[in-house]
Amino acid sequence: MDYNKIFTDINAKLSSYKDDGAVASYIPELQRVLPNKFGVHLCSVEGMNYHFGDSEEKFSIQSIVKVLSLTMAFEIEEDELWKRVGVEPSGNPFNSLVQLEYDEGIPRNPFINAGAIVIADVLVSKLKNPREDFINFVRHLSGNNQIDYCDRIAQSEKSKGHRNAALCNLMKSFGNIENNIHEVIDFYFDLCSIEMTCSELARTFLFLANYGKDPVNGNQIISSSKSKRINAVMQLCGLYDEAGEFSFKVGLPGKSGVGGGIAVVHPGKYSMVVWSPRLNKKGNSNKGMRFLEEFTSYTASSIF
Ligand code: GLU
Repeated sequence: MDYNKIFTDINAKLSSYKDDGAVASYIPELQRVLPNKFGVHLCSVEGMNYHFGDSEEKFSIQSIVKVLSLTMAFEIEEDELWKRVGVEPSGNPFNSLVQLEYDEGIPRNPFINAGAIVIADVLVSKLKNPREDFINFVRHLSGNNQIDYCDRIAQSEKSKGHRNAALCNLMKSFGNIENNIHEVIDFYFDLCSIEMTCSELARTFLFLANYGKDPVNGNQIISSSKSKRINAVMQLCGLYDEAGEFSFKVGLPGKSGVGGGIAVVHPGKYSMVVWSPRLNKKGNSNKGMRFLEEFTSYTASSIF
């Protein structure tokens, strides 16, 4: 399929689309991004690449990293992991504290902030040098040694990260955080600060479109069973309290971030990343969701 042409056609169709979303401002550094940026990149499992717009520009991947930290923690902890974090959609905002109290410090899933902080805690416990080991893992997945954290963004989030610190403290009070809370939360902010382009990120997610195996170099990153499970959690929980809407309109496992990126996979076919920084009230990219909806309808390629 000529995805380049399809991207151009969809973009033309959306030219009159009025995006009333706003760039995330609660992390001060994210506000500096130009709001009308738009990029998309698709990697097919056969090794083809298609792109449109600002697909080679770095952006802050924010919560999209949670898929990669989950992948690493799942490899280390196996099914023990699911005693500390659930796999149910939360139906609540990504940074909500309320359910944690009722659920005795066990987050509903690894993609809301509380769940991702537990995953960060697992990695702090199990890795010798968490910061270095994790970025090396991402570099391995992406086949790119230049991928890195952005200290500017991490520091900016640290200066305003009181809510995430509250989540971490609450879970610590229930015994679901093993390490020093400052160490865990700083590592979590570092994870969220990683910057990538649409093309780098789509390449990084390709193993999840190919049953856990990187189709480019043949590396089995994780088992197909784990790949299935991670995609299932993405399908149900990857877009916060808009996961149902995203499933309804787009119909692919996906993960969003407040930097305006959305990564999706179609098992057996492709991985794809869209980036557009204006967010809706739920923290998801407005135009990114719209574009993906048009794409899966036009190509009849949702998983449903
Ligand atoms: N670092 C962000 C936070 O914790 C990630 C949120 C997101 O991308 O959804 O608030």
